[in-house]
Amino acid sequence: MKKKKLHKLPQSVVNQIAAGEVVERPASVVKELVDNAIDAQADRIEVRVKNGGIDMIEVSDNGYGIPKEDLPLIFDAHTTSKIEKIEDLNTLLSMGFRGEALSTITSVARVKVSSKYVEETIANEIDFNEEGKSPVKKTPKERGTTVRVENLFYNIPARKKHLKTSQTEYRKIYELMNNYYLVYPNIHFILEKDSKVVLDLPAIENSKKGEITKERVKEVMNEDTSNFIQVYYEGAGIKISGYVAHPSNHKSSRAKGYMFVNDRAISDKGIYRAIHEGYSRYIPHGQKVDFVIKIDMDPQFVDVNVHPRKEEVRFENPYRVYSAIENAVKHTLEKELSFRDIPSGNEGKIRDFSSLRERFNKASTTSSKRESIEEGSRKEYESSNLYSSGKSISVKDSLLFSKEILSSQIKEDDDQKENISWEDEMNIRNIFQIFNKYVVVEFTDERLWVIDQHAAAERINFEKLSEGKNGLDLQNYLVPVEIDLKKEEAIFLEEAHDFFETIGIIYEIEGTKLKLKTAPTSFSESNFEEMFNEIFSLEDNIEDLGKNLEKRRDDLLATISCHGSIRSGQRLSREEMLNLFKELSDCENPYSCPHGRPAIWKLTLSEIDNNFERTY
Ligand code: ADP
Ligand code: MG
Repeated sequence: MKKKKLHKLPQSVVNQIAAGEVVERPASVVKELVDNAIDAQADRIEVRVKNGGIDMIEVSDNGYGIPKEDLPLIFDAHTTSKIEKIEDLNTLLSMGFRGEALSTITSVARVKVSSKYVEETIANEIDFNEEGKSPVKKTPKERGTTVRVENLFYNIPARKKHLKTSQTEYRKIYELMNNYYLVYPNIHFILEKDSKVVLDLPAIENSKKGEITKERVKEVMNEDTSNFIQVYYEGAGIKISGYVAHPSNHKSSRAKGYMFVNDRAISDKGIYRAIHEGYSRYIPHGQKVDFVIKIDMDPQFVDVNVHPRKEEVRFENPYRVYSAIENAVKHTLEKELSFRDIPSGNEGKIRDFSSLRERFNKASTTSSKRESIEEGSRKEYESSNLYSSGKSISVKDSLLFSKEILSSQIKEDDDQKENISWEDEMNIRNIFQIFNKYVVVEFTDERLWVIDQHAAAERINFEKLSEGKNGLDLQNYLVPVEIDLKKEEAIFLEEAHDFFETIGIIYEIEGTKLKLKTAPTSFSESNFEEMFNEIFSLEDNIEDLGKNLEKRRDDLLATISCHGSIRSGQRLSREEMLNLFKELSDCENPYSCPHGRPAIWKLTLSEIDNNFERTY
């Protein structure tokens, strides 16, 4: 066989190849055209499709239009009015930006554009088909731009054959449009299918671009959204907003989840997971909820150019984003639900709280059937119907309470099968340490965890501290630990005395000396001086820290957690490793340390096999 001669591909073929990435199906054409309409500042956009968009797609807008002299150029590759230099890509917030949408669409379909530029008196139109560009000619048009795309993939039969039925293609367009309805409440949208108007959504009065409104959420979810809960969080350069379903609306089937980054619809498994992590105390394991979540952040910290159709993004610091989302959701739910009440029937039981708690603590050290505890407590939680009225007790308490009740049952179970070890029960086959830094857990069911021992210990400490001193093992020092302080530090600690006491750090201040009398056992080997110094430096000015103590509670706890006894570089005994694993499994959020770094890396045998290209 002779080698074929090297040759340069004609531009038309290059375009067709590129089109495969940008234009996958009719919905991708709709997306590019609607993006262009939005970039042209339209506030009314009509989308018409025929036969699922395969025969015809037409997008009309009332934007600023295209100047006559530009009309013949917009089909050329890399023609755009939106960027000039590569740096613009980093800061660009407009929708289109690579100047290739129209040129690629014209390489796989027949396109007609008519437009009236705001600063011109006459509208013009141009055609693009297999013969090339037509000359520009006058056309009657009042305002804006209409782009009509016909016979998609007429010249690439293989691609056309790959399209789904017209219903499926239409559904994809319908779904795509939902994203726009959500983020652009200020735009009037009309959707027409096979010459019938299926949706006419006037703009919502006084709404702004990017504002998630209850009205549009209801429209898109197409179900009762009256008990959806509004989420709002702002901090550390990230703003999170949107609506999430009430926990009682959880479902086992696929939920409707919409996510946006800087007004762009994306899909990201990490965000999906983070939202559900936020619900973990409130819905049964594995259940799903509907949500609309929007993240706004400096475009510099998110790369939108990783996907040809811009449907995925890459965050510079994903864990920060994910933990912000998780916390935003969690705090919203906590706030929203803790004011609801539980039925009065539980009052009597709640009084026995502390003794039950003791029992629970004992039980939980001998057993760790976390799944069943959790699942059970959630069932209990649901059946006690916390969302109805009665005595005012926070959800957190009642959850703990049901944990207690259940754990007493678990203890009984445990007594019966004393001869089965805890490790067997957790399916642990091997547990060992590597590099004095990571704990590797091999399970009998083909899973492997690599745990960052310091991140894990931080997480455990953090959650224990967050629960307060009642849940902590405390140690009293016979000889108090003494630390010399600066004057303002002494004043701060004097004022913060009660705050620290709630987390089991009990001290006295004598002049400028701190005498530490009690601390949680897990800190017994800590360098307290270092710990306090880090706390002091949380704010530039220690007085500010005093003022914002409650607001900065989580930061403080995270800093303290970091000073627990298990550090990186430390050898752990088997007992310590097992205990670390056990306590981590009991955590609310075992997957990251309080600073958002991951704590567990989960692998499966098949992932490892794949890595070795082993198929058996
Ligand atoms: P991009 O959007 O990346 O710039 P496109 O190929 O989608 O590239 O569009 C090329 C150019 O055509 C745009 O930069 C814009 O100047 C113009 N254009 C396309 N559609 C419209 C529209 N609906 N209204 C105004 N101008 C448009
Ligand atoms: Mg574009």
